[in-house]
Parts: sequence; C-alpha cells; structure tokens
Amino acid sequence: MTVRTLRNASDLVEAGLIAPERAAALERVAAQYAVAITPAMAELIDAADPGDPIARQFTPDVAELDILPVESDDPVGDFAHSPVEGVVHRYPDRALLKVNHACAVYCRFCFRREMVGPEGLRPLSPAALDAAMAYIAERPAIWEVIVTGGDPFILSPRRLREVMRRLGAIDHVKVVRFHTRVPAVAPEAVTDELVAALKAPGKAVYVALHANHAREMTPQARAACAKIVDAGIPMLGQTVLLAGVNDDPETLSALMRALVETRIKPYYLHHADLAPGTSHLRTSIAEGQALMRAMRGTVSGLCQPTYVLDIPGGHGKVPVGPDYLSEGYVEDPAGRSHAYWPSARDETD
Ligand code: SF4
Repeated sequence: MTVRTLRNASDLVEAGLIAPERAAALERVAAQYAVAITPAMAELIDAADPGDPIARQFTPDVAELDILPVESDDPVGDFAHSPVEGVVHRYPDRALLKVNHACAVYCRFCFRREMVGPEGLRPLSPAALDAAMAYIAERPAIWEVIVTGGDPFILSPRRLREVMRRLGAIDHVKVVRFHTRVPAVAPEAVTDELVAALKAPGKAVYVALHANHAREMTPQARAACAKIVDAGIPMLGQTVLLAGVNDDPETLSALMRALVETRIKPYYLHHADLAPGTSHLRTSIAEGQALMRAMRGTVSGLCQPTYVLDIPGGHGKVPVGPDYLSEGYVEDPAGRSHAYWPSARDETD
C-alpha cells in the first residue's frame, strides 16, 4: 500500500504503477508538468489495465509532449482577466480568488497546468492577498467569490478560516464557492476542523467537487463529502469529459449517479480545454453531445449536468447542447421528432 504522494517517475516505478523502462521518458514529461498521485488514487489504479481510467488522469504520458498549435498555456484566458494577482474577474457578479497554486494531485488534462505545481505560480503573499481582498471589497457588484487554485482544500484550516473571515467581512459577497478535488483524492484531509473553517456567518457556502469517474467516489470519499453536506454546505459536481476515462454513456451515468447518491448535484460537464499536450485526452464536441443525448431519458434529471465549453481566450463559458428544438420540431429523448411551435402562444391565442 502506498503511504505517501507519488511525485516522480521513480516513485511510480517503486509503487508498481509504471514499468521501469518507461521511467526515463516519463521523467521528461514530469520535468514539464508536475506529477502528484495521492495514496487514495494510487490505491485505485489497476496497474494491470493499460487503459485504467484513474491512471489515465494522473500518470504522465509521453503524448503530453505533443503540443498542438491550437493549444495554449492559458486556454481560458485567466491572465487576460486578472486585474490583480490572485483574482480573475470575467463576469460582473462573480470573481475567482486563487489563493494557492498547488494541488493534492496533478491532473494530466489540467487547464491551468502551466500555473499549478511546485514550479508554477507562487501562493499569494500576505500583501497580494490584501490587494485581492481590497479589489473584491471595492466592487459591490461581486456577489459570489469562487475560491479555487490550485486546490484551496490543501490549505490548512487556519488559512482557510482567515480567507473566510476576510470574505465574511465583505457585505456584498453573499456566496462563496470552493472548487476542490480533495474530498475524492485525499478524503482523509477533510477533517471537522477544515469543514468548520469553510463557514462564515451570513454567507452561503458551496463546495464543488471535481470528479471524473465513479471509482473516485470510494466509501472514504463519500464519507468526506457527507461531512461537508451534513455541516449544511451544499455540494455540486463538476466533471471534465475525457477520452478513455468517462467518454461512454455507462461510465458517465455511473459517475453522475454516484455523485447524486452522495448528495452532490452534477453541475457542469466541461468539454476538455485546449491545454498544452492534452489532445490525447480530448473528445470532439459531437461526441460530448451524443453522450448527453444518451443520458437524457435514461438517467434521472437530477443526474444531468450542463455540458459547457469555456471559449478559448477567456470569452466565457457557454452550454454546447445538444439542442432538441428546431423550427417546427422538437426531438424526444429517443430521437423521434415531433411537431411543435416555438411560439406556441401565438397558435393558441
Ligand atoms: S486539481 Fe484542479 S487545478 Fe489541480 S491539477 Fe487537477 S484540475 Fe488542475
């Protein structure tokens, strides 16, 4: 059993997750993009399965050195929308607060892979955190703050408490949303102290869990999430659509059901961003739409996320279908067309 986070190719060889002859090539990948596989995730990997969906998310692959011209170091335009260090302000009523840039695991498809990791951006200094908080405090239109990173749940409860104390003092911030993988990838880190640190009087706090495969929702992960939900903090699910990980209807439906069973409402299914060296993990949008169609009508409405694309360059996130309505027709979940009048009110007046 692995007892510590695996951080380089020799760790992976030692844990039996890669063959020794792959180590040199993967070390080149690890030099470019950070590697971390927590004990909980290492345990889940079936090393005998070359297509293991957990390994595919976290084990480096030489395909990552193949960077396409359309790929970008900043695919969703964080830098273009960052007025002060640590803040991304893309939409009027909400802002991202990126307090740290380290994570418990490093996902091979991460859209911020050039920013996260030990070689990535440094955590916010006390002065930079002051400036970020001042930026939020000075803009009454900011209704929601999304604390992300990196992964904010690897901060100590003391630091999280401090972040919440400061956000709690800003009247116009009504909602604080944390984005994290920790409850699934390092469930032991979700302590009572951490959960208590997320709360601030008068603020609605949400936790969005990033999970991509039902196997990540282990009994330990479910218990960690139950601790959060039982504390009165609703949870949302966000999933990245990934080739060879969750791009078939059964796998995706199983994940959505596992989330809902854990009292996590699936929120977004993200089309994989154009992050460098990730083309082997991306599907086409048409494949994503076909998956969404396959789930509609066969899986409970509670289990349906919105399939979204973050428009490259930072132009925002939009739903990308599928679309069931066309002029004069609507399609049912089985794919049959029915006549319908988009402005049916005119027809019945
Ligand atoms: S946990 Fe999130 S920020 Fe960190 S590497 Fe994975 S996707 Fe990127």
